[in-house]
Amino acid sequence: MDRSEKNRLIATVEPDEVFPEAVIAGEKTFMSPDEIASYFLPGGMVEKTFGEGYEFRKQQQSLVREITSAFNGDSFSLLEAPTGIGKTLSYLLPAAKWALLNGEKVIVSTNTINLQDQIISKDIPLLSKVLGRKVEFALAKGMRNYLCLLRSDEVKGELPLPDPDAEDGVDEARAILDWAEKTEDGSVFDMGFTPSEQQWDRFAAESESCVRRECPHYNECFFFKARRKIAKADLIVVNHHLLFSDISIKHSAGRDDAGVLPPVGRVVIDEAHNVAGSATMHFTLKTSSLGVTKTLNRLKRVAARAARLAKNNIRAADARSRVMEILSAMQKVFPPRIKKVETASKRFFESLYNSFEESSPDGSYGFSIRVMDDEIESGGRWGKAVSLYPQVSESMADLSGEVRKALAVLDSEGGDETVGIVAELKAVFAGIDRHSAVIRGFAAGDSSQVNFVKSVEAGKRNRRKFASVSMSPIDIAPYLKERLYDRCKTLILTSATLREKDGFEFQKNSLGLRDNERITELAVPSPFDHKRQALLALPDDLPAPEATDVYSERLGRAIYDCVRASRGGALVLFTSYRLLKEVSVALAPELEGDGIRVLTQGDMPREKILAEFKADGNAVLFGTDSFREGVDIAGDALRLVVITGLPFSVPAEPVFQARMEAIKQSGKDAFNQYAVPVAVINFRQAFGRLIRTATDRGAVAVLDSRITRKHYGRHFINSIPQCGTLEGHFETVVRELKKFFDSI
Ligand code: SF4
Repeated sequence: MDRSEKNRLIATVEPDEVFPEAVIAGEKTFMSPDEIASYFLPGGMVEKTFGEGYEFRKQQQSLVREITSAFNGDSFSLLEAPTGIGKTLSYLLPAAKWALLNGEKVIVSTNTINLQDQIISKDIPLLSKVLGRKVEFALAKGMRNYLCLLRSDEVKGELPLPDPDAEDGVDEARAILDWAEKTEDGSVFDMGFTPSEQQWDRFAAESESCVRRECPHYNECFFFKARRKIAKADLIVVNHHLLFSDISIKHSAGRDDAGVLPPVGRVVIDEAHNVAGSATMHFTLKTSSLGVTKTLNRLKRVAARAARLAKNNIRAADARSRVMEILSAMQKVFPPRIKKVETASKRFFESLYNSFEESSPDGSYGFSIRVMDDEIESGGRWGKAVSLYPQVSESMADLSGEVRKALAVLDSEGGDETVGIVAELKAVFAGIDRHSAVIRGFAAGDSSQVNFVKSVEAGKRNRRKFASVSMSPIDIAPYLKERLYDRCKTLILTSATLREKDGFEFQKNSLGLRDNERITELAVPSPFDHKRQALLALPDDLPAPEATDVYSERLGRAIYDCVRASRGGALVLFTSYRLLKEVSVALAPELEGDGIRVLTQGDMPREKILAEFKADGNAVLFGTDSFREGVDIAGDALRLVVITGLPFSVPAEPVFQARMEAIKQSGKDAFNQYAVPVAVINFRQAFGRLIRTATDRGAVAVLDSRITRKHYGRHFINSIPQCGTLEGHFETVVRELKKFFDSI
């Protein structure tokens, strides 16, 4: 059977039966808010199941009712619920009940692995007991985490040819193939070793190359098996990364059944203060020298495979003569065109790399430089790269045209023997298209992409220079509307830190929800007695952060005194990794000499460092932004949080800078309406590490005097729950801090 016959048959069974709710609209069964809230009442099913230790929280009742109403009323809800309220169960219970009553699955997205683990290992099993019915759930992983059997066949067919991507790749490819023979779930996490990105790239299932039902392995495909499992689940647990990448895949493919998740319908997003960041990352268009090389190497492998197939002469019947012709020609047609793209793109990216190096203040990498349209128009520092763009564009268009021609014949006339080649060519075609579109957008200096900010990043990976070009959305609202809001029936956005200055306005503006008529909002107060449990230390005579040796030395001394006052048990948060390293290296001998173990981010994996910190009980942990959240250490082991600097975004970061400018241009005060709110939410996250239970006690020391000296400092102080405050000269504050820790 050739491909055109298959296509006709396939058309009769589309749309995908895996996610039937995509096409079937059913009647709704409403939930009673009273009934759902009653589960959490004293003597209710949650207490009966939980047993001793369950605490009734009045605040939780309003939260549960609000969430229940959002499911019943097809509405959106912004919910701020602090730690200790029982937020997770408050949304999981109505979500599960809704799924069981209505047969509509609910997607639950978290930002951190901690919360995901808690939901899967603790909350969902508890939920099944509370509801008296098994709640089916699935932990969804991205498509690329699964082995593609079709691609695996292709690699097997290539061996023992040398791998163009890596000298020692053949052994690794063999190890993956061995595992592929035995694996039961085909997930990369099941492999027992971590494959290099280069090698896994050749085996991973991916949307662009998947030929779905045309694939000879469709029935045993690991990815589609996982999707079938997801299709049976009531609750699908994902992380924000997967949620937004899946939304992007569906959008690019133009199909709601693309990607791993069902079409978004009922969605709960916890840790929703990260939505803007996750959405920005996944709606960013990006290409790089490494990405182009990868696509071209892939095409080289396809051409070689096609030549082998032609040589082995797969039943060269007359009907297949065009197929044979194309397969034979690929080794002649592609290589010279690949060479042209290689040469042109190498020169283009090298030029970007050189311009980046000249612009880097201290020759360092690991950051992005914004590219202004007028620099492109005037031929400024990126002028050379822009002048090389036509060659890149022409060579890519030429190559892409040839790939399209080959695809047209093989896709319609090829048979089972060429299905793998078709899959690879589709991915290559999509890849060239993507690289070309981003480079074209970059080189266009006419602001044709008015809602995008352009940036260049460069560096070295495995001793190889690389440069990349990104185009990130300045305003994510239109994309969220089109790809998420317009497709959602219920959307719950919840976090312990969504509000700024008592309101949700900042989030609503950032996420494009201000004028959304379906949105409701609720903030419930903390159940903890912060006045009794927490102390806020605000020394007012320390220097404001600056990149000088004097500052890092003063800061180091202040940290040392604070950590001595608490006798360890301290999480010290920095806004810069360089400063963290400087201070931790300087303080480690003294602190260790005092019997306080020093743990520094980067010394060991995050989960391990947190476990060691918790087990020690009196250690000090130096971390950056990533430790501001997902650190849930109750009790004495974390009794002091030191915030070394107010967590403002880096002013030169391209997306932040472009958003500030856009706000200014609209006549608003960008600093107070954007920079401060972002920093306040970060600050609230950092503060939230301290009090995790009703019995915790401790202090937060802010070693950035801008909090007391600058007019905006009050926003930070007012954004956290009221607690005892120490304000004054550093020596006095530390003396009082010591007394506080001596007393608890
Ligand atoms: S169905 Fe798609 S992902 Fe699965 S083995 Fe085939 S091509 Fe690969």
